[in-house]
Amino acid sequence: MRRPIIAGNWKMFKTRGETSAFFQGLIPQIQAVTHCDIVVAPPFTALSTAVDEAARTAVKISAQDVYWEKEGAFTGQVSVKMLREVGCTYTIIGHSERRQYFGETDETVHKKTVAAVGGGLKAIVCVGELLAERDAGQAVDVVRRQVCNGLAGLTGPDLSNIIVAYEPVWAIGTGRTATPEIAAEMHAAIRKTFAEIYNGAAADALRILYGGSVKPDNISALMKKEDIDGALVGGASLDPASFAAIIKY
Ligand code: PEP
Repeated sequence: MRRPIIAGNWKMFKTRGETSAFFQGLIPQIQAVTHCDIVVAPPFTALSTAVDEAARTAVKISAQDVYWEKEGAFTGQVSVKMLREVGCTYTIIGHSERRQYFGETDETVHKKTVAAVGGGLKAIVCVGELLAERDAGQAVDVVRRQVCNGLAGLTGPDLSNIIVAYEPVWAIGTGRTATPEIAAEMHAAIRKTFAEIYNGAAADALRILYGGSVKPDNISALMKKEDIDGALVGGASLDPASFAAIIKY
């Protein structure tokens, strides 16, 4: 019922030239794909190149972050309108690297999410616990808090433009993927939380991606789980062949 999404987060990788080369490698490999939505999130500087390269294909382009104000004296920030003008249709919000290194909080995630969906972008909102939190048995509580504080108070139409990415921090860039069972358990907890703060229909419709060392050889086991609706892929999205293999799981 829920359409799968495979999204690639390039983080701080790829110049414009490297972006063009990536799409020229990727597009011929995924032309026949119709079973999922495909999203690529390059750095801000390569967004317009990516939009041009992905024109007339099924690939949608995402930013990796956005600011909640419309414009103003906010050095280094980029608004929803600016992203839409360049051709972005998605943005990632609240990635754990932004939470860990750049002071992102549940409150800023909430403000960015409201601004993004209010301005017509789809938001891929990231949540996930630290290793110490999982070891202390707090994983579900942490993720519940992130979902409640980051995503409460949205209106009905906005909800259809929210995608949640569950990314346990201990699995990101470490090669240590969560087992499909661990991931599915958290996805079910996120869906339950959504049912509590909204309703059953919103929870059933919510697309929840798993992220954390997704590779061509582990994607199909993850995608077999009912509550896993796709993947947010970091390292393995940088290479056209491995990203295409994940898309064609
Ligand atoms: C990410 O950056 O969102 C991510 C999941 O990275 P990786 O796939 O490299 O673990």
